[in-house]
Formats: sequence, structure tokens, C-alpha cells
Amino acid sequence: MRIPRFYFPDPLAPGARVALPQDAAHHAVRVLRLGENDLVRLFNGDGCEYRARIVRIDKQAVVVLIESAAPLSCESPLNVLLVQGISSGERMDYTLQKSVELGVGAIQPIQAERSVVKLSGERMQKRMQHWQSVVASACEQSGRNVVPEVRPVSGLMECLAQASGAGHQASGGELRIHLSPDAELSLRDLEKPLGPVVLAAGPEGGFSDHEHAALKQCGYIAVKLGPRILRTETAALAALAALQILWGDY
Ligand code: SAH
Repeated sequence: MRIPRFYFPDPLAPGARVALPQDAAHHAVRVLRLGENDLVRLFNGDGCEYRARIVRIDKQAVVVLIESAAPLSCESPLNVLLVQGISSGERMDYTLQKSVELGVGAIQPIQAERSVVKLSGERMQKRMQHWQSVVASACEQSGRNVVPEVRPVSGLMECLAQASGAGHQASGGELRIHLSPDAELSLRDLEKPLGPVVLAAGPEGGFSDHEHAALKQCGYIAVKLGPRILRTETAALAALAALQILWGDY
């Protein structure tokens, strides 16, 4: 059996004894039936994987002793920021989970004009925590030791204003792509960027005309993924896989 991997949200170091977070403890003991002396692997997003041994299991806690740390990277050389129009509950979770598996660098959820779900206040905070936990679980499963950031929810205009600074020219060799079924270009028509890729995908209903125009003005190149209309979650994930083949690590 592969040694189980768990996300641990605090600093770790060899020699330390730590109690596994509640979910991980439950999974380790109740689901995987691990016992004292069994090994687990922990990561906290600092780029290392920590090997740890279970030293105590009781009602209160599952305590492990960190035995060693190794810098293990499976990060893609292609850094992709996914700017994703918020889709409804499970669909958005799916997008996040799969984009982590496909090597996304960070995710910027966008409250698009046509996003069905409108988030604010406490609900938004809860949803963002939920998304970050979906991302951490996907890292546990996929072997990533760097946890992609789910950035605070933003409107498209605010996001574009921030990213483009004063000018509208893409800087630092960044390539900005907007997935649009009406585009002429395909990913293959683009030149390999020197810097990161920013990939924008609309929600279920797509981006509005106004949003399309703003993306264009901010230097986003409209790109089409074949002649068929894809669901929002398919579009982002197909584009990520294609980007990894073109310029990443597939
Ligand atoms: N009714 C909308 C479709 C939205 S699909 C329309 O006709 O525009 C949701 C999102 O998925 C789109 O905003 C776009 O970003 C992406 N998408 C879907 N199919 C695509 C395709 N063939 N090429 C590029 N992007 C696509």
C-alpha cells in the first residue's frame, strides 16, 4: 500500500510530535485502519514531504513523530492562474479538484455577471474555506506538496484592474487567454509564453458582452477549443491539459 498522505496546515520539522487534524486522524484510523508504528506522509505546502510515524492513538488524538523531510516537487514548469467564473456548487468543486490534479498554479474565482451563485459575507467566507479544503484534498491525492492558492472572490473588472496595473499590456512574458466558443484562434496558434499563463473561463452562461470586451481590452486573447460548446468545467480542464501538453510537463 502507498503510504497515506495528509495535509497538515502548520509548520513541521523532523523530531516534532504533532496531532493529526481531525479529518486526517479519522481517515487514518477509522478508514485506513492504521495503527501505532505505521507510517504516514504529511505536507503543509512548504514544498517538502514529511515522513512521520504514528506513535500514539487514543480517543483524543492520533499523534505522529516526524522522522524526516524531503523537498519533493511535482510542480509544472508552466505556471497557470485559472480565472474561473463561479459556477454552481458541485461544478465549481469539480473544477477546483481537477485543476489541481492537472497542475494549476492558483485559482481566482470570479463573481461573473452571469454566475448563478451570488456570494457575499459569511457565505462567501465559508465557501472560500470549503474551496481551499477541496484544493488541499486534491493535493493529498495527487502528490503535490505545494497547495495552490484559492484567491479571494472578485468581480471580473476588479480582477482585471488589479492584474493589468496602469497599462493594458501583458507584462513579464505573461500570456492571457480567454476561452470563448466564438473565438477564431486555437491554442496551437499561440506562441510559447516566457512567463505564466492566465486562463479565463466563463461560468455556465458564459461571460457577458461587457466582460468579453473588458477581457479583450486587458490583452486577453480569445481562444476556442474546437467547434463544440463545452460545459464550463470541461472547458477549463481541457484547456489545462492542452496547455500542459504544449508548454508544461505532459
Ligand atoms: N452559452 C455560452 C456557453 C458558455 S460555456 C456561450 O455560448 O458563450 C461556459 C464557458 O466555457 C465559456 O464562457 C467559455 O469560457 C468556455 N467554453 C465552452 N466551450 C468552449 C469552446 N468550445 N471553446 C472555448 N471555450 C469554451
